[in-house]
Amino acid sequence: MTDNLNPQPRSYHMTPDEFRKYGRAVVDWIADYYERVESLPVLSRVHPGEIRAKLPAEPPQQGEPFEQMLADVDRLIMPGITHWQSPNFFAFFPSNSSGPAVLGELLSAGLGVQGMLWATSPACTELETHVMDWLVDMLGLPEKFKSTSAGGGVIQDTASNSALTAVLAARERATGWAGNERGLDGRLVAYASTQAHSSIEKAVKIAGLGRANLRLIDVDETFAMRPDLLARQIAADRQAGLVPCFVSATIGTTSSNAMDPIRRIGEICRAENLWFHVDAAMSGTAALCPEFRYTHDGLELADSYCFNPHKWMFTNFDCDCFFVADRAALIRTFSIMPEYLRNKATESGAVIDYRDWHVQLGRRFRALKLWFVIRHYGVEGLRHHVRQHVELAQRFATWVREDERFELAAPAPLNLVCFRHQAGDEFNRKLLEALNNSGRLYLTHTTLGGRYTLRMVVGSTYTEARHVEAAWAQIQATASQLA
Ligand code: PLP
Repeated sequence: MTDNLNPQPRSYHMTPDEFRKYGRAVVDWIADYYERVESLPVLSRVHPGEIRAKLPAEPPQQGEPFEQMLADVDRLIMPGITHWQSPNFFAFFPSNSSGPAVLGELLSAGLGVQGMLWATSPACTELETHVMDWLVDMLGLPEKFKSTSAGGGVIQDTASNSALTAVLAARERATGWAGNERGLDGRLVAYASTQAHSSIEKAVKIAGLGRANLRLIDVDETFAMRPDLLARQIAADRQAGLVPCFVSATIGTTSSNAMDPIRRIGEICRAENLWFHVDAAMSGTAALCPEFRYTHDGLELADSYCFNPHKWMFTNFDCDCFFVADRAALIRTFSIMPEYLRNKATESGAVIDYRDWHVQLGRRFRALKLWFVIRHYGVEGLRHHVRQHVELAQRFATWVREDERFELAAPAPLNLVCFRHQAGDEFNRKLLEALNNSGRLYLTHTTLGGRYTLRMVVGSTYTEARHVEAAWAQIQATASQLA
């Protein structure tokens, strides 16, 4: 009841009609952005502090019109954006997005679901389980990673968190599930190659094993882990009274896309009863295509595996797919049941509660965007684009080989080409700087064998042959100017 003395309380919320209007404007804005992103300088050119200096010192006391906010995105934010969705983005590893992914993300935000328990939104859990089982088939992964076996998949935010999850489960298994209860005695040891991603080191540190108990195993001439050295180090550690517990191998290292020999490492882990984690953050996507599945040979020996659709499968950040062979080991590591989370479905044992599969409690409805991507492209569509990226990178590698001023710095099995000019580190450093300053493309570097190396990754959603051709022409021309 309202009368003149008690007027309707004021609401500051955006009405559904306003949301409809501004939502359309935002979708139009994104569509326009995708149309023009190619023409923007790829790497943001602002100086440190420049964006902040233009923002008001105080938050607004009164709400502002939405039109103003969207205009300020163009005016204040866009100058500070590095365009990861540009077809001329060849840096790091891609973080590609697509229309269906963005729309799935929008729906997920609209529903605002919190999927910590099956009971808090059954569709959030069941769609995730289903899509993760689909991916096992789509990538030709071992059946043991399916929810219909003893394992299963869960969507995490990042490969870093998957690595942490794997190390924690390995730690618990190796201590007879006592680490969580009594803490550690400093004897657990973990292994990865010198080329493993830094997230493995972080995971080992956070899990309490201690950085000093991470052994970085040397690599061969292709930058892949040497299993003979791994076996030798494990034996030496056992000899010293330590307890080896975890090995991480990489399918597609960050620096050079090196492929660790999964089967041989897995056999060692089996013989030594070590948790074997396989990090395929970017290159896992290649397994969509049967001809690239050789990179995953031996994966049936792994305890856990992850890859990032948010890198190379057209699914916007964040979306990492983590699979385990033995979900009971995960649940035993992470499960904890406060009274306020008790519910009938959980107690029936008939449902999955994904909160027990990782560190955090709350979780977003990420499966929706992945489901949209898979349904929009279909397996054939995804394969088509992955093959196209690999084909373009291989063409680029051929051009490098054919230009006597340049050399390949590592094998290029998929969509990453590591190369350098013959004129030495300083020249390559200047070359990279000049290329990135041009605004026409964005490349990053690494060191391989102690030498400065340029990396060219083909994986952005809208990259076509003409972009890779233009990039190579720009690299050649800039090298000529600097010589
Ligand atoms: N593993 C590898 C091989 C990577 O290349 C990367 C990132 O580039 C990561 C892990 C970390 O990925 P995320 O950002 O998902 O933690």
